[in-house]
Amino acid sequence: NKYWTIKTTIEDAPKEADFDLKTSTLALSLDPGSKEMIVKNLYLSIDPYQLNRMKSSSSSQKTGGFATGISPGQEIEAFGVARVVASDNPEYEKGELVAGLVTWAEYSKIGSNGIIRKLDPMGFPLSYHVGILGFSGLTAYAGFLEVCKPKRGEKVFVSAASGSVGNLVGQFAKLHGCYVVGCAGSKPKVQLLKEKLGFDEAFNYREETDLNSTLKRYFPDGIDIYFDNVGAEMQEAAVANMNTFGRVAVCGVISEYTDSGKRAAPDMLDVIYKRIKIQGFLAGDHIGLFQEFISTTCDRLRSGELCPLEDISDGLDSIPFAFAGLFRGDNIGKKMVKIAEE
Ligand code: NDP
Repeated sequence: NKYWTIKTTIEDAPKEADFDLKTSTLALSLDPGSKEMIVKNLYLSIDPYQLNRMKSSSSSQKTGGFATGISPGQEIEAFGVARVVASDNPEYEKGELVAGLVTWAEYSKIGSNGIIRKLDPMGFPLSYHVGILGFSGLTAYAGFLEVCKPKRGEKVFVSAASGSVGNLVGQFAKLHGCYVVGCAGSKPKVQLLKEKLGFDEAFNYREETDLNSTLKRYFPDGIDIYFDNVGAEMQEAAVANMNTFGRVAVCGVISEYTDSGKRAAPDMLDVIYKRIKIQGFLAGDHIGLFQEFISTTCDRLRSGELCPLEDISDGLDSIPFAFAGLFRGDNIGKKMVKIAEE
């Protein structure tokens, strides 16, 4: 069984050379009573937060137990879709599809307390269950509806808007009758947001020298909701342009993951006088919304109101490049790796 691990802890932007492909033997004969399973991974999710787990222990402690640090040599847990190939767990049979925490590997062993569930593809491609119907979808759905509490006609700004979570936040916001502006890091991404995903406006943040005035240009009447995926100076500029009682959902701060010197420092007098609410959240806090999210999203996929945006690399070998690419802005939509045929 081939699996990826890190060579050493990673403190800034990850490179392919930071990873090691290792081989282990994984016996298909499980100890009776162990309730373990072995699954063959089909699609693995590639997520920015993993980088924070790969930092030295002092940094990874900040994940507050949600996603603990990864040590060099250790297998890397990740969300994925897989098929059971051996099972001592009475609830799962060989051949069944599952979704949940597996590893960056061809095959993963799932313990009796593994975070996994049976997967009914409901007629959708398996990749949808990693992206739009998976954790990214729930993050966008719960973060936008529960944290931002949108009202019709409100003005919404989304950063990393062509990414996995961002593109869905924009699409959900449009379905809620909001005015939506997204920013992304290239011209084709900006075009896609406006032409394919229905964003009212979009801009390339790399071409802007003064983000504060850029946001004034796109939001002459101010921002009601900022869905933050990037942190740092974008968050500061967004807060400076917020309306009274505006909401900032801090989903992620990717620009700070690769630069320990970078920290958002929004003007707290703006926050006080405009009564702005800035709230961080974890998708896992909103697992209670999962069924509602799945049924709403499936309906909207079937009606064509939602457009899935996927960016799939092929094969286990491609994982380090795919992962490093998140921090270069390579991906358009949900980044995942196809490990094996269904
Ligand atoms: P994306 O698909 O959005 O991929 C990352 C994108 O971020 C890149 O494509 C790039 O797009 C952009 N980016 C990378 N580096 C920078 C930078 N220095 N400055 C600005 N933009 C940058 O990833 P996800 O949708 O999976 O995640 C988006 C955010 O949400 C991340 O911060 C992640 O950690 C967070 N997250 C939080 C969850 C939660 O429960 N709170 C759950 C899932 C994700 P571009 O070309 O536009 O620069």
